[in-house]
Amino acid sequence: MITFEQLGLDDRLVKATSELGYIHPTPIQEQAIPVLLSGTKDLIGLAQTGTGKTAAFSLPLLSILKEDKKYPQALIVCPTRELCLQIVKEIVGFKKFMKEINVVAVYGGASISLQIRDIKRGVQVIVATPGRLIDLIERKAVNLEKIQYVVLDEADEMLNMGFQDDIEFILNNTPIRESTWLFSATMPPAIRKVSKKYMDNPVEITVGKANTVNTNIDHQYYVTSAQHRYETLKRLIDFNPGIYGIIFTRTKADAQNIAEKLTREGYDIDALHGDLTQPQRDRVMKQFRDRSLQLLIATDVAARGIDVKEITHVINYELPDDVEVYTHRSGRTGRAGSTGICISIIHSRESYRLKQIQKIVQAPFNKMEIPSGKDVCRKQFFYFMDKLLKADVSHGDYESYVPMLEERFADISKEEVLKRVAALEFDRFLQYYENAGDLNVRQGENRADRRDRQMGRERSDHSDRGERGARNGKRDNRDFQGETARLFINIGTKDGFYKASFLQFILDMSDLRKEVLGRIDMKEMNSWVEIDKKAANQMIRSLDGKKFKGRKIRMNDADSGGRR
Ligand code: ADP
Ligand code: MG
Repeated sequence: MITFEQLGLDDRLVKATSELGYIHPTPIQEQAIPVLLSGTKDLIGLAQTGTGKTAAFSLPLLSILKEDKKYPQALIVCPTRELCLQIVKEIVGFKKFMKEINVVAVYGGASISLQIRDIKRGVQVIVATPGRLIDLIERKAVNLEKIQYVVLDEADEMLNMGFQDDIEFILNNTPIRESTWLFSATMPPAIRKVSKKYMDNPVEITVGKANTVNTNIDHQYYVTSAQHRYETLKRLIDFNPGIYGIIFTRTKADAQNIAEKLTREGYDIDALHGDLTQPQRDRVMKQFRDRSLQLLIATDVAARGIDVKEITHVINYELPDDVEVYTHRSGRTGRAGSTGICISIIHSRESYRLKQIQKIVQAPFNKMEIPSGKDVCRKQFFYFMDKLLKADVSHGDYESYVPMLEERFADISKEEVLKRVAALEFDRFLQYYENAGDLNVRQGENRADRRDRQMGRERSDHSDRGERGARNGKRDNRDFQGETARLFINIGTKDGFYKASFLQFILDMSDLRKEVLGRIDMKEMNSWVEIDKKAANQMIRSLDGKKFKGRKIRMNDADSGGRR
């Protein structure tokens, strides 16, 4: 494998890359850097997102600039403010040992006068979004007369966003431009056209298949009905406890609403979209990078080019209108050699769009079952146990509390302690998921079938969980066809039970299987249990007269009026 030293870069840049932890150049860097250093004028670099295109153009640029000349020589144009800042940040890292070089970011939504002042200070490199740059050109606040190098980063995105005229305007306003370097993940015809018009015999470097996404990404999709999209999203988040991800929506309103809903339900999430002020956007991005937000929900425009490391999941709340946008969304994960998962939530009528996307992505898409409530609880349990086992107790002064803890827990078994810790952690999940419905839409299933399958079980899946959910919660999953009995028991929610824990309790006590149970009605003081008549006696025998927290349990057949 080749190293940065072998690429012919300035020694100071080699040193900087090694300080940044770059060991080997990525394929696009390995191929583009020597070509650009050799004086090649025009270049088209096509590579999937996350493959290191920023360094592929920044490093040669810094190598060939005239450091001692304090006027703008290179212009990097990119679609969004976030990307602008990201590119500047990388360049600042690279030029660590090249003190003479200055770089400025120019983008909308921030003070233009400060940016003008920075430019006047004598910069060699300007990184800009098209809109603000044109503003500056029109105000004659930036001099592009001596710009030799123009880089168009994420060119496909800029065209998708309607910046074609702006880009042409910019190219037309760089009179002595010698080199144009265009980088893109995809090569739609519009880019071909721009390159024909403004580039001279460009060298074309394609890494991997053009128009493909990264093979480090696992593409998965889940089929549900349109009205269960939100529930499905929530369940998938819950099924992935360690998730660090970006959710994409098509509209700002969706991003905002879902963020608000999930926040109310206790998730660490915030929205990134065009209606936020610049400081708001910065705050959200910072929190997400710092990981104080676990999830970011964004529109495509707002999330363009964002490079956040180690994103585990990208979730398409809806498929994008434009199939090429999919590659950009999925490219937020699986970056720089790590692996990631890109999930799409679709409804059955969208299968054809998925096929179109699959064609472009040229990677297998895996159909997944939406996990059941039980699956989610199990997953959360395992995650929690793992967290408990790995908890770091090396720092705090826990030792000194041990005697106190031991005394307090002297009469309670380890098993009990664990159960209670689990209860503290899992109440929310167990309550929410105990009667959660099946959200999958299955092939060949008609509406009525689906309604039957989901009936009753869906109810408590919504926000009316707890009291109302418990009372309404019809259970459809009875295996038995025969007669049922209704049992009364003098235990209720006041005893600290909720439905799932109560169910577990009576099953444990009676050694019966869940299938014998029907509907359970819980009140504060008492509950009623519907049960297969054949199992009723065993349940009564096992519970009636036993003790719970020092109180005698009474259980009898509710309909025979049999109070003893
Ligand atoms: P692209 O523009 O192709 O989507 P980026 O330039 O944003 O990709 O790079 C993706 C990530 O990979 C960045 O975090 C960057 O710092 C990192 N990276 C780039 N080149 C290397 C390298 N040679 N070695 C290690 N990490 C790299
Ligand atoms: Mg990039």
